[in-house]
Amino acid sequence: MKVQFGFSRIELAHGDITQQHVDAIVNAANADLAGGGGVDGAIHRAAGPSVMEETRARYPLGCPPGDAVVTSAGLLPARYLFHAVGPIWRGGQQREAELLRSCVRRCLELAAKHDCQSLALPAISTGAYRFPIDLAAENLLDEIRKFVDGAPRSLIVRVVLFDAGSYGAFARVLESFVDR
Ligand code: ADP
Repeated sequence: MKVQFGFSRIELAHGDITQQHVDAIVNAANADLAGGGGVDGAIHRAAGPSVMEETRARYPLGCPPGDAVVTSAGLLPARYLFHAVGPIWRGGQQREAELLRSCVRRCLELAAKHDCQSLALPAISTGAYRFPIDLAAENLLDEIRKFVDGAPRSLIVRVVLFDAGSYGAFARVLESFVDR
């Protein structure tokens, strides 16, 4: 699914984010930037050890929830990796939505700063961090739409969903944006 907003486009794809040929791939990292399971593990396995070495050297204090940091992409078919730290879902009263939006916005700012024309991101926080998928889709896609709508440059933002259920949730929200 692809929807145009201003000069930019939001796309949804079903599959493995490590296979995406884009300028920047977003990792759903943890605050220690220590690697882990899920998409983080898949990205580090595919990127090779140089990315973890660079991350440790450049960001020894990690990265707080709501923020993102940049490294090279190692063996991945991308120029950059953005390590975004989403919130752990604790029921919804701990600024979870705000923190999810903020780490997505930071990735979009990094994409602009590094002259990226395409960016792929996963459904941050919806795995081990248990953010409800419908609410994640609403916040993540709305934050992307707000950023690209009216932005002076074109950017392809591709959200890569690993399973059919997540794809369906994101597709429903993106469809609802077309009619708004
Ligand atoms: P978090 O800790 O931020 O919740 P997870 O990696 O546990 O991160 O899950 C985030 C989302 O990424 C989940 O929806 C999960 O299904 C998805 N995911 C896992 N592996 C991949 C992959 N290789 N490509 C794209 N998405 C993936």
